[in-house]
Amino acid sequence: MSIAQNLKAIQAKLGDNITLVAVSKTKPASDISEAYEAGQRHFGENKIQEMTDKWESLPKDIHWHMIGHVQTNKIKYMAPYVSLIHGCDREKVLSVTNKEASKVDRVIDVLLQVHIAEEDSKFGFDDAELEEFVQSNRWSEMPNIRIKGLMGMATFTENKEQIHREFAHLKSLFNKYQSVFGETFNVLSMGMSGDFEIAISEGSNMVRVGSSIFGARNYSAQ
Ligand SMILES: *Cc1c(COP(=O)(O)O)cnc(C)c1O
Repeated sequence: MSIAQNLKAIQAKLGDNITLVAVSKTKPASDISEAYEAGQRHFGENKIQEMTDKWESLPKDIHWHMIGHVQTNKIKYMAPYVSLIHGCDREKVLSVTNKEASKVDRVIDVLLQVHIAEEDSKFGFDDAELEEFVQSNRWSEMPNIRIKGLMGMATFTENKEQIHREFAHLKSLFNKYQSVFGETFNVLSMGMSGDFEIAISEGSNMVRVGSSIFGARNYSAQ
């Protein structure tokens, strides 16, 4: 199947209020162009340099999502254009993003990444760190970022019940913190190729799908 056909098949499984982020990491700009021609506008990358190269060469109405682990010394390269940073997994990413956003006179939308999986390999705030950070109000002294919601990755497992449980937990945190951050806190980014349908059943409104659109990646690029 072509990229356009894959996109159509996935879109058909998403409700109207769910944003599809097409994860194009490791894939060439020509694949992104193909998806763009089919109407796709949100793309996700996990390396700032690679995303910036693609941003430079591709149409400017693309919304670029940084979904990977963020190196703080590289935030300045994406600050002028990034649409949403999903991978804010520690406070340092937020404070540096705030600083770099102010230099380019922007308010950058971010998600707090929460560690919901069993695996240690995944990044993110754990529940206690998240609670401490939210209640601290330190985020209110970062006027150049806007905390739009939460992001999380479930354990890579065949156990569907476990995946349901982990996503349900993230949704409960999302509901809890909506009362703190208010109406603009409205993005719950969860679900990838293998588990986006489970994520949607648990309340996701943004899915990040790569291999089901563009095919398998040549190397593992978590
Ligand atoms: C690579 C990646 C995805 C997409 O994974 P697929 O299984 O190819 O759909 C989603 N989210 C994050 C954070 C990723 O790193």
